[in-house]
Amino acid sequence: ETLYRVDRWGPPYFAVNSAGDISVRPFGDDTLPHQEIDLLKVVKKASSLGLQLPLVVRFPDVLRNRLESIQSAFDSAIESRGYGAHFQGVYPVKSNQDRFVVEDIVEFGSGFRFGLESGSKPELLLAMSCLCSGSPDALLICNGFKDAEYVSLALVAKKLQFNSVIVLEEEDELDVVIDAGRKLGIRPVIGLRAKLRTKHAGHFGSTSGEKGKFGLTTAQILRVVKKLGQFEMLDCLQLLHFHVGSQIPSTSLLADGIVEAAQIYCELFRHGAAMQFIDVGGGLGIDYDGSRSGDSDMSVSYSLHEYASTVVKTVAFVCDRNSVKHPMICSESGRAIVSHHSVLVFEAVSESFNGDDKQKRTDSPCVERLSDDARAAYNSLYAAAMRNERERCVFLTDELKGRCVEQFKEGNLEMEELAAVDGFCDFIENAVGVSDEIMAYHVNLSVFTSIPDFWGIGQLFPIIPIHRLDEKPELRGFLSDLTCDSDGKIDKFIGSEASLPLHKLVEDTGGGGAAAYYLGMFLGGAYEEALGGIHNLFGRPSVARVVAQSSGGFVVKSAVAGASCGEVLRAMGHRPETVLETLRRRVEEFVGDGGAAGTVMEGFSSCLGNMPYLARAAAMKGGGGDGD
Ligand code: PLP
Repeated sequence: ETLYRVDRWGPPYFAVNSAGDISVRPFGDDTLPHQEIDLLKVVKKASSLGLQLPLVVRFPDVLRNRLESIQSAFDSAIESRGYGAHFQGVYPVKSNQDRFVVEDIVEFGSGFRFGLESGSKPELLLAMSCLCSGSPDALLICNGFKDAEYVSLALVAKKLQFNSVIVLEEEDELDVVIDAGRKLGIRPVIGLRAKLRTKHAGHFGSTSGEKGKFGLTTAQILRVVKKLGQFEMLDCLQLLHFHVGSQIPSTSLLADGIVEAAQIYCELFRHGAAMQFIDVGGGLGIDYDGSRSGDSDMSVSYSLHEYASTVVKTVAFVCDRNSVKHPMICSESGRAIVSHHSVLVFEAVSESFNGDDKQKRTDSPCVERLSDDARAAYNSLYAAAMRNERERCVFLTDELKGRCVEQFKEGNLEMEELAAVDGFCDFIENAVGVSDEIMAYHVNLSVFTSIPDFWGIGQLFPIIPIHRLDEKPELRGFLSDLTCDSDGKIDKFIGSEASLPLHKLVEDTGGGGAAAYYLGMFLGGAYEEALGGIHNLFGRPSVARVVAQSSGGFVVKSAVAGASCGEVLRAMGHRPETVLETLRRRVEEFVGDGGAAGTVMEGFSSCLGNMPYLARAAAMKGGGGDGD
């Protein structure tokens, strides 16, 4: 557990079991030992159902536990502080818009009025549709830049008895709201997003502060209040929203933001607005590296309870100071709700040393065939290695390789000799310990599709083997993905390590190549799925939705194959039917129309139906597990 810090970032949902596999604890701290789910068994079960890797395994029970934990953290902070109103959260669907994720959140949160937040028109449409089965008191917060169509949708939502709140991101949106409201005869509930001066210094805070992209400045807020007064609509203004950025590192920064926002809330109240809600936005962070340090985007220094208690006590303090009734508190936590609920499982299909074949490293070059210069370098390198002179070995290795490449370019050295020299140099580097022995593990994955935040902003997630955790890993490696792109690799891991301890791939006992070696990317349930693209046409992974049974074991509730080659082609404007038809003509021309042509066409059409990732025989073996 400690090697991969599972004991730090894993609790309460992930641990290592006695079989050396990752064990998922679907009910968090309330999970009983017999209810723990062995992730490897889930992967085998999903494979036996025909799902190809990479595979996103979703655990709805974890989602439920996250929601309940957030709610109970606020409930207990409210109770212990004697706070005068309740907490009512919303889930920002941008964090993961997957239908099952949103539907589960609405269902699990309906007992405590949990609502949804949208930031665009399609998000609003999906939020309305999902909230049809939610609590009638749930909020529907409409954030993001808005045009007349977005505003009309939000107004119609109110007519349909959703508790939609149109949060003004820009001053001009007020005119659109007033105008559309009049035309439709619907009186809006309005919120406004304050541009706080409190600034979050991390990556995710770049849109916060006075120069931030979103929200209204103090002067703009005053003009909005004035205009609402002129239109006799001050009773419509009921919510104050702010969002200082994702991954708020510390409760002191959180408290700073809340003091400022709560003071604005009280001022709005003083100006006659019918204020009811303070919406503290998102930002409840995840301790990705388990360090609890809060000094990078990877970590936060507080617990869920400390977060909730800071929000409640700070709002209470400011409102009491201003003799303003305590508002209902809303939060828009996305990352904190969905990050833990899914694990991306993928496979390492091969490992190589410096991209070369390890077997050849000990082949000796034929010294007589080397040029005089190269032979001199060879002899000196050999002697330096015998004396264990590391620095000199590094220098002479370069020298020897350089001389040999020259000789090769001149046409005086055969490829076999060149390869043998490379192998000899690797051998010497290893022998004197100058090689860092970092292997490239080739993984059946696209970083761009499945871990886009690593590529885009250097976000680190815990990535570890999901089995063999009872064996000491002999090697260290970085992960090199399938794409033809030098950025398609993961060479930084939590703890800022450039490599990961990894196990040697072993032969499958049944023969037929290497046995499967599965890795998991954890805590990536937020944002990664929506951000990922189809670079190199590697599309969305397969998804298995796994529900724990309280008596033990698990059930795969749904198994959805990832995007096929045909689907990714279609996403780029190609028509798979046309591709097939065009190829059919070509086949007729060059293969004829007999059985051989039929076989070629079947190959094309089955490829269009398959996923673009590598299909490995070993990966599909060994179905079963104790799920049913
Ligand atoms: N609310 C707003 C307005 C946001 O922009 C975001 C995301 O950045 C969130 C909520 C969710 O934030 P988080 O995932 O940090 O909870």
